[in-house]
Amino acid sequence: MKPTRPQVAPMSCREAMAVLWDLLDDELDETMAVRVRAHIEICRGCRGHHDFSKAFLERLATARDADATPRELRERLLRLRDQIA
Ligand SMILES: [Zn+2]
Repeated sequence: MKPTRPQVAPMSCREAMAVLWDLLDDELDETMAVRVRAHIEICRGCRGHHDFSKAFLERLATARDADATPRELRERLLRLRDQIA
């Protein structure tokens, strides 16, 4: 059975986490953003990842790491996230 209403279709953790950065970067279309946010609200694990990543991005915006580009930092964080997932 396929979901008939995309805006309320349940999203798996894997799916939500795959687009987490896009959500934080404001690069998702509205339908997708709503679905991810809905998942984050009901899923404690993903909310933890979301809050952690958001805090990280906010810190990155205020205190740049002189030794690494934002992209490198992001990749490092993604690896870290995989370890704690
Ligand atoms: Zn989840």
